[in-house]
Amino acid sequence: MDDGEVTPRLRQAISDLPVYRAGRQAAPGGLKLSSNENPYGPLPSVVEAVSRAAEQMNRYPDPGSTALLAALSEHLDFPPEWFAVACGSVALVGQAVATVAEPGDEVVYSWPSFESYPIVTGIAGADAVQVPLDAQYRQDLEAVADAVTPATRIIFVCTPNNPTGTTVTHAAVEGLLSRVPQDVLVVIDEAYAEFVDDPEAVDSLRLVRSHTNVVVLRTFSKAYGLAGLRVGYAVGHPAVIAGLRKTGLPFGVSILAQEAAIASLAAKAELLDRVSRLRDERTRVESALTAAGWTLYHPQANFIWLGTGAETASVGQRLINSGITAREFPGVGIRVSIADTDANDALIDALTNL
Ligand SMILES: *Cc1c(COP(=O)(O)O)cnc(C)c1O
Repeated sequence: MDDGEVTPRLRQAISDLPVYRAGRQAAPGGLKLSSNENPYGPLPSVVEAVSRAAEQMNRYPDPGSTALLAALSEHLDFPPEWFAVACGSVALVGQAVATVAEPGDEVVYSWPSFESYPIVTGIAGADAVQVPLDAQYRQDLEAVADAVTPATRIIFVCTPNNPTGTTVTHAAVEGLLSRVPQDVLVVIDEAYAEFVDDPEAVDSLRLVRSHTNVVVLRTFSKAYGLAGLRVGYAVGHPAVIAGLRKTGLPFGVSILAQEAAIASLAAKAELLDRVSRLRDERTRVESALTAAGWTLYHPQANFIWLGTGAETASVGQRLINSGITAREFPGVGIRVSIADTDANDALIDALTNL
């Protein structure tokens, strides 16, 4: 703005923030594999619940999301006061930082990981401490523990990690927790938990029961296919949950989102059947690409990670030429969502026929 026009002065921390880059929209007729969305449309029972709720849109939603908390309580066998719900679990990422960190405090997380972490850290005016992934694109939780200082207030562990798809083991998280002071919050961000089939992967809910400083974040956006309605939740000790609830936007979960989430939990078996189909597709893509010479890193979410490094732009262009919109991390790699069979065939084709 160099035309002499004066605009309000932004906080330096906000001016310095990166802009969140959402997955790109696909070209017309193209395949959008850039946002890890569920490729299957909503179930009729969920659409019906949303339509019914739409009749009440002149009313505010239940601010306490009471019915949804009861459904979650039944779903995961924790009392309702162990849950906070919000407008997507991305909101809870921000609420977690707002609850425990202020300027001068440190937020520790691995990198590359979920792009919201640096943003919410910056908004809080806290300092980000980024710990590099290992050569297999996994989080090194020993190194994360080494990075903890007296200024550390919160640690994010993203499993499966977005964008690399790798999980952390239960033993590794227990090791981290044994080294972290008990008044430091450890957030296990599990947006893709339902897609995990590695038996070594962390059983995060078990850790919530044994550690007051562990909070798990989950979402209805990915496995449950409600990305457009925005609803996610946290599970943790009521003392932490109370903080998350205080920092949330009042009435942040719409009537439609609350009802859709309840209907989705009621249709859990059907929805998890779709998840298992996507898992089979992931295995198929992994085998085909591995046979073609690509290295994959034991993908455990609904996407694959290509560690393309300096080749990222050229491989990205090859995907674009095949009508596939993926998520590029310049100079680092490419994340591509697993979708329905046709889309996955197109992906395999684009990466195997040079
Ligand atoms: C998608 C995602 C979320 C949150 O998604 P919402 O749609 O906001 O619920 C949180 N964490 C990670 C790592 C994600 O990939």
